Amino acid sequence: MREVYLCKYGEIILKGANRSSFEALLCRELKFRLSFAGRFSVTRSQSVITVAPREGTEPTSEEYAAAYGAISKTFGIIAVCRCAAVPQDLAAIEETAAGYLKDRLEAAKTFKVETKRADKRFPMHSFDVSAAVGGYILSKYPHLKVDVHDPDITVKVDIRDGDAFVSAGSEHAAGGMPVGSNGKGLLLLSGGIDSPVAGWMMAKRGVKLDAVYFEAFPYTSLQAREKVITLAREIALWAGSIRLHVVSLTEIEEEISRNCAEEYFTILLRRYMMRIAAKLAAETDCGALITGESMGQVASQTMEALAVTDAVSPIPVFRPCIGLDKEEIIVSARKIGTFDTSILPYEDCCTVFTPRHPRTRPSAAEVEEEEKKLATEADITAALAGRQTLNINYKDSLEL
Ligand code: ATP
Ligand code: MG
Repeated sequence: MREVYLCKYGEIILKGANRSSFEALLCRELKFRLSFAGRFSVTRSQSVITVAPREGTEPTSEEYAAAYGAISKTFGIIAVCRCAAVPQDLAAIEETAAGYLKDRLEAAKTFKVETKRADKRFPMHSFDVSAAVGGYILSKYPHLKVDVHDPDITVKVDIRDGDAFVSAGSEHAAGGMPVGSNGKGLLLLSGGIDSPVAGWMMAKRGVKLDAVYFEAFPYTSLQAREKVITLAREIALWAGSIRLHVVSLTEIEEEISRNCAEEYFTILLRRYMMRIAAKLAAETDCGALITGESMGQVASQTMEALAVTDAVSPIPVFRPCIGLDKEEIIVSARKIGTFDTSILPYEDCCTVFTPRHPRTRPSAAEVEEEEKKLATEADITAALAGRQTLNINYKDSLEL
């Protein structure tokens, strides 16, 4: 039995001239990801992309699992249907339905069969196929009852393209838009819970990601950096390969703490981060910055503090978590697979010089006054000159 995956993508966003480039991007991305799973083909007809084992190949169960894993993390696909493909022969369809869906049928109390016959060369009507397959399933699973209104499982038989496909219907997939269909953004990636979720949310909307991590060695450890690299790899499973820039803020933090009033430490540091990130973004074709900030979560995330931080970025700053509660962000972090890494206990560069009483409602004027004590431009140039850039490849991420 061959398993194939019918991938459905959204309709609304596909209208007009964008449709074909969207589809091409999605197919290219799928082909790339599936090339690491095994030998699968990717074909498109109407609004369905079919992923199937290449002619003459028989994937192992690990290869099938890898293919399904890759598909389910590919943005742009809203639902995926795992099917068994069999010849257009009633006995084969019946046996496959009973065997392929064994676990689901055993667990269910009620079922129905639905048949679609796009291939009119098949000699039976849909209704008759459903009745025959239903009768066969009942003979194999006598505990089941037919319920056409609200069954525990709907067995679907799809007769088309010279084959018959048997499934239990579609499952939700990653949704969103293919990565790369909406430009590139620079994610400020810390080791916390929020920024990986923020990056994932923007990638879901088709934004390709680069990332920047600020460290303050030796105040922050190499383990803290490793943790961020792991987070980037976890995000890359969804977002595709990511370039991760590592920038040291050690000298800047020491300079701030030598020269400035303690209550401004955090906001000054955040403005440095934004300025450095915006410069990096300009160099690397990123059209926006992305952060994990959430309204009111900490002193630097009040309305006033966010405005003062924003003021130094010449490009938009996207904060997709802004309206989410911590609990909601955690639910997402668990779903995307970053939570367990995020809660590893390594220090962040922001927490090294945390003021005891941070200014929660700073004004731009007072912060600018404080900045006069710093060599901002020279500091930024030096920080950028010392950066390291790591390639976080999709392929390597699969080994996690
Ligand atoms: P997170 O959980 O994402 O770390 P947070 O709630 O701890 O967020 P802050 O530490 O104030 O909040 O950081 C706010 C945002 O600034 C982060 O979500 C991230 O986008 C960015 N940021 C903070 N620290 C760093 C860092 N060391 N390197 C890169 N970006 C950072
Ligand atoms: Mg943090």
